Amino acid sequence: MMKTNIAKFTTSLVQWIDADYGHVAPVSDSEELDRINWVRCSPFIVLHLGCLAVFWVGWSWVALNTAIALYLVRMFAITGFYHRYFAHRTFSISRWGQFAFAVLGASSAQRGPLWWAANHRDHHRYSDTSEDPHSPIRYGFWRSHAGWFMSTRHYGTEYRRIQDFARFPELLWLNRFDKAVPVGLAVVLYLCGFWLELFAPSLGVTGLQMLVWGFAISTTVLFHATASINSLAHLVGRPRYDTGDHSRNNFFLALLTLGEGWHNNHHKFMGCTRQGFYWWEIDLTYYGLKFLSWTGLIWGLKPVPAKAYDPAEQLSSEHLAPAS
Ligand SMILES: [Zn+2]
Ligand SMILES: [Zn+2]
Repeated sequence: MMKTNIAKFTTSLVQWIDADYGHVAPVSDSEELDRINWVRCSPFIVLHLGCLAVFWVGWSWVALNTAIALYLVRMFAITGFYHRYFAHRTFSISRWGQFAFAVLGASSAQRGPLWWAANHRDHHRYSDTSEDPHSPIRYGFWRSHAGWFMSTRHYGTEYRRIQDFARFPELLWLNRFDKAVPVGLAVVLYLCGFWLELFAPSLGVTGLQMLVWGFAISTTVLFHATASINSLAHLVGRPRYDTGDHSRNNFFLALLTLGEGWHNNHHKFMGCTRQGFYWWEIDLTYYGLKFLSWTGLIWGLKPVPAKAYDPAEQLSSEHLAPAS
């Protein structure tokens, strides 16, 4: 028993660095697989505790603005690329471009692009059934929000779900060593803060302050905002379409996540790039992707199908005008 526990502990430590180490697809229904793996997820806990250091390091405009900017840029990478590109392939991009945005997405510390997209594909395939990795209807709020992410069952990447992208060795590397980019970002933030502390002391910035605001706070808020789509967007809001699951549209969540809150629209028409179907359904990620398409960096954005605007397709009798 003691030996088994030591082996599990050691495996979890190695998996901090190499996410694929010792991974075998979970085949059993063992309850142990669904338990939270506290050793493995301790960096995630430390990230949250790191936010409390704000009482020690204080704040400055530079640190606060860095946290906000990193939240927005990384949320865009998560929704625009981890979600709308890697999980759903709603547009095209060059191999270099896909790697660059995968690196940006990886800096969010929400694991690798292949892990993220493979789980998300399962979410759509089994939405709100017992096979759904994070259904609040099946498993309750906390498990759908964070517990699933911390349990042994969901740590490994199901590569068979994401074979189309698993053929790129650079993405496989990024997925396997998923801590490399976030740790790199944390180091760069600390060094920037330290440099400003030395050469621009009037700004009131320190290395630790940049680490706490730019990494710990920004990344923690980013995680919970993203996770709210898995939990709250299946609980709170209004459905427009009958999707056979509990997905909702939620204006507040859409603002928070740059457009992901139009989750019922997305469950119905997951193949289109846009998730806010009407002009008042603010979808900042779509506007950003549209801008990138004008630069030629991405192309082939998939439009909202005409039948999305057909009143017969919609649950309510609200007569909504097509988007301009
Ligand atoms: Zn959903
Ligand atoms: Zn999706």
